[in-house]
Amino acid sequence: MALGVFCGFSAGPSERYVDTATALGAGLAACGHRLVYGAGGVGLMGAVARGAAGGGAPILGVIPEFLRAKEMGDHLPPQQIVLTKDLLERKRVMIDRADAFVALPGGYGTLDEVLEVVSMAALGQDVGPLVLLDVDDDWWPLLDHVERLGRRGFVRDTGILRLARTPEQALDMVAEAAAARMPVPAGDHQHARAAR
Ligand code: AMP
Repeated sequence: MALGVFCGFSAGPSERYVDTATALGAGLAACGHRLVYGAGGVGLMGAVARGAAGGGAPILGVIPEFLRAKEMGDHLPPQQIVLTKDLLERKRVMIDRADAFVALPGGYGTLDEVLEVVSMAALGQDVGPLVLLDVDDDWWPLLDHVERLGRRGFVRDTGILRLARTPEQALDMVAEAAAARMPVPAGDHQHARAAR
């Protein structure tokens, strides 16, 4: 599976953030997944990529030309790079090239990417499942806000946002959700029909 990881360009307030990002990268590599991410070499982006590269995962990094100098840094692990013209195209390429998504804590960029996937899913568009990975109750305010919007009738499907507490749990959740939306192979349709 190609796993899109959204996360901060910053490293977060404690070592736990970088450790969790590194563990997510190592865990996705151990599962045999490919990493699709924003091609950052620093902060949580860099930690995920180094964890994935350390475990031998292929990496696709997607970055707008104007962020190359600022975000790629000197410690970028080996990866295939797609250069985009802007942030919107980067988001589109990442969403198109990933089968499922995990979001670590981050800033505006991460929030923007998460809400893009969630709003596509809410409108029934073809987008992979997304799981939020908490390090230190980072995603609770967003979940609370979505619940509130649900109570006020602005959001119908408040269950789209799902929360994991460890990288292992996040990887299990996305694998399960991605398997549930896989198209049934033709042969299985026939078996299903014969069984009816
Ligand atoms: P952040 O979560 O803000 O630390 O950023 C994560 C990644 O998203 C970085 O590569 C940022 O450059 C990028 N980014 C920042 N702001 C935006 C935005 N409004 N839309 C899309 N990506 C962004």
